[in-house]
Amino acid sequence: MTINVDVTANVVGGLPKQLLIDGKFVPALSGRTFETRNPATGELLANVAEGDAADIDLAVAAARRAFTGPWSRFTPFERQQCLLRFADLVEKHFESLALIDVLDMGAPITSMHARRQRALGLPRFYAGMCTVIQGGTLPNSFPGEVFSYTLKEPVGVVGAITPWNAPLTSTIWKIGPVLATGCTMVLKPAEDAPLTALRLGELLLEAGVPEGVVNIVPGFGDKAGAALARHMDVDKVAFTGSDITGRKVIEASKGNIKRVTLELGGKSPDVIFADCDMDAAVAGAGMGVFANTGQICCAGTRLLVQRPIYQEFVARVSDYAKSLKVGNGLDPATQIGPVVNAKQLDRVSDYMEIGLGEGATATTGGRRLTEGALKDGFFFEPTVLSRVDNTMRVAREEIFGPVAAAIPFDTLEEAATIANDTVFGLGGGVWTSSVTTAHRMAKAIRTGTVWVNTYGGLDPVVPFGGYKTSGYGRESGTEHLDAYLETKAVVMKLA
Ligand code: NAD
Repeated sequence: MTINVDVTANVVGGLPKQLLIDGKFVPALSGRTFETRNPATGELLANVAEGDAADIDLAVAAARRAFTGPWSRFTPFERQQCLLRFADLVEKHFESLALIDVLDMGAPITSMHARRQRALGLPRFYAGMCTVIQGGTLPNSFPGEVFSYTLKEPVGVVGAITPWNAPLTSTIWKIGPVLATGCTMVLKPAEDAPLTALRLGELLLEAGVPEGVVNIVPGFGDKAGAALARHMDVDKVAFTGSDITGRKVIEASKGNIKRVTLELGGKSPDVIFADCDMDAAVAGAGMGVFANTGQICCAGTRLLVQRPIYQEFVARVSDYAKSLKVGNGLDPATQIGPVVNAKQLDRVSDYMEIGLGEGATATTGGRRLTEGALKDGFFFEPTVLSRVDNTMRVAREEIFGPVAAAIPFDTLEEAATIANDTVFGLGGGVWTSSVTTAHRMAKAIRTGTVWVNTYGGLDPVVPFGGYKTSGYGRESGTEHLDAYLETKAVVMKLA
């Protein structure tokens, strides 16, 4: 396919590239900008205003004014209307929003189309939640003399910090609960892919969300991100990213005892039993690790395979990996795009050396792709490492690239032990035709989600989050809103 060279100019040309503060797009106070590039071609997409601590101060002040201003008097139905109008605008502009993700972080356009339902479902789910937030009346020890009830109130100004791996959906995921609960926010998108968030900011204003309710400050993590995490007038931080940064966010949040929710990384086990439907497991577990070029927090990167089918499964999943078309995400035939930047490419390459040095074998892949049109991008072959045991670094550390580590096991108990022998606890999978095995493994694996005979699907109604080092708090599902609400108890003496 010939890539249409006008696509970049047409899509990126009209996008906002400044900070969104108090309803207006403004330059950074420092006047500085940073580059964002297309990882498939290396081409410069845009220079984006680079916010730092001073801009974060302005944005937080705007969010505070909005929190106590007219927004606080919006009824749940009015907030719901904002979210529904926003959802309609996301639907109307979905193709161009999808293209921004393709250009800014390398996602294949076909995978963006697969995320359409999620991108539209998230704001509509949170729209539904606006009108079901409620406290309760309480039985107490002095009936007739004392009446007690609870109110649910928005926690206040939220600082949201996002990674680059799914800009469209992860940004909407952060906006939804803020608008549903009546909070306000300052969003710090990832420096590698800030454009989608800025465009969503524009759509929020068009949807009638009052100025200052959602402020967006692109910039670097150690400046803008750190300033947001430690800001004394931010009430809650919702962070998605690596566990290393998550620890810094916890530390930074101490000053005013912020509420913190953390969606962090993983090294998720996908357990393939000998009685599985092999065709389904090969494709399902294969895409469970290679989708989005392995840059998914819950990617099923440890393939735990029961020994009788180990050789056959590894051979078949390797053939599957080899069959995947790697290329520029604008090409509708592309299944696997580039990794996001040169640093990430080096990281994946380094892990190849580490893995092979530890005694693993690459049954397919294992190298950077530079042929033809791929030469200026950050492409890496989908890779299957076999002869891996769970003590190796490639089985213990998050690579965040298209690399599967295949580990054999004999019994269900052994599979559960290996699955849980990790500091992480985000996702897990089970492939089996036995209902008993499915339930026993679903119970045994200590992760926030366990998929059975499928892998990786997310749904706004299903809670998502991590055990252990994968974070705390849940996003999606009704309990997501708890993290954005305070409970106030009112105790009234009856005359
Ligand atoms: P990262 O931790 O490097 O960056 C995430 C965000 O944090 C970016 O916006 C960055 O600018 C910001 N940041 C960096 N340093 C900061 C600091 N000191 N204070 C405040 N903010 C700071 O992660 P990444 O490389 O962008 O993303 C990959 C990681 O994110 C992986 O570990 C992946 O598993 C995880 N992730 C988790 C989920 C989930 O839902 N659990 C989803 C996507 C990605």
